Amino acid sequence: MKLFTCEHCGQTLYFDNFNCIRCQHELGFLPDRMVLSALHLRGKNWRPVDAQANSIEYRKCANYSEHNLCNWMIPSSDPDTYCVACRLNQTIPDLGVEGNTALWRRLEAEKRRLVFSLMRLDLPLEPKTKTNTEGLAFAFLSDDPGSAFREDAEQVLTGHAAGLITLNIAEADDATREDMRQQMGEPYRTLLGHFRHESGHYYWDRLVQGTDWLEPFRALFGDETQDYQASLQTHYEQGAPADWQNHFVSTYASSHPWEDWAETWAHYLHIADTLETARAFGLRVKPRVDDADDLSTGVPFDPYRSRNFEPLIEQWLPVTYALNSLNQSMGQPDLYPFILAPKAIEKLSFVHRIILDHREHRAPPL
Ligand SMILES: [Zn+2]
Ligand SMILES: [Zn+2]
Ligand SMILES: [Zn+2]
Repeated sequence: MKLFTCEHCGQTLYFDNFNCIRCQHELGFLPDRMVLSALHLRGKNWRPVDAQANSIEYRKCANYSEHNLCNWMIPSSDPDTYCVACRLNQTIPDLGVEGNTALWRRLEAEKRRLVFSLMRLDLPLEPKTKTNTEGLAFAFLSDDPGSAFREDAEQVLTGHAAGLITLNIAEADDATREDMRQQMGEPYRTLLGHFRHESGHYYWDRLVQGTDWLEPFRALFGDETQDYQASLQTHYEQGAPADWQNHFVSTYASSHPWEDWAETWAHYLHIADTLETARAFGLRVKPRVDDADDLSTGVPFDPYRSRNFEPLIEQWLPVTYALNSLNQSMGQPDLYPFILAPKAIEKLSFVHRIILDHREHRAPPL
């Protein structure tokens, strides 16, 4: 994630800010420019404070103006009432239920981080609608209140099906999520991790299924036509194979090639975004290959734009050792509690090549 600067007073701004803490200007993220900008009201529209006379104007996303839980803007020429992130919502929590607005706020904050990364990577990001069945959508659902006491009650499971990503809003509650993490024996469980993982399933459908990448995918991840439900059941009954760390980023990745892909995809997004944050703060750890990727262009290394994967992983490993050690110095669990074996790195590199291939061959925007 980038750092931003208030154009009015020079204060450093963070992606989630709604106001500049120094000059109090209202802020809005401009998805067409990928910057967080200080704004002033001009008539009924908003303009960046440093705007040229002919610069475009913006409206607030309806989730900004009505609920103050999204800080993204919409170019005034765009007729949609929701920003590019919020228009992906198919179902939001019932705000009549006490506590749901707070849970929804956390979900949206993490979803915007996902959407930011997807946009940086030039991935397809249209809302799923009746006419665009290939699009992406989110449903934030809760268990029926009495469900814990009825054996027949269906629990809302986090997952992806045909472009619709479903999240159980209880995952936005720290205590509930930590409880689940312990039950599942996972070293890491976050909302952002869920969003990144589930988006991996969606992009497998978009970028791998039915393409020339399918056979190379099978060679690396295995045959995804094997029975999915049976594979998960075996995984939950027997656990991961003893040597899972030689092949997979996590135990869950060993359950089925689709889950291996989704876990690998999530780690790719962890790496790209966390490296960008590290660089935004000037954090460099043993920068042996620093900027090597872009020496020819003289452009500073950008983890989201690198043509090669090697510079990412060569920077990532020492950064994780440093960050894990910093966390341990504060008595916190490891920031990145994973070990990346050569096979897992090969899979990450494969994800990188597919994203790059899409960027370089995607149809020009209509
Ligand atoms: Zn300011
Ligand atoms: Zn929004
Ligand atoms: Zn999954």
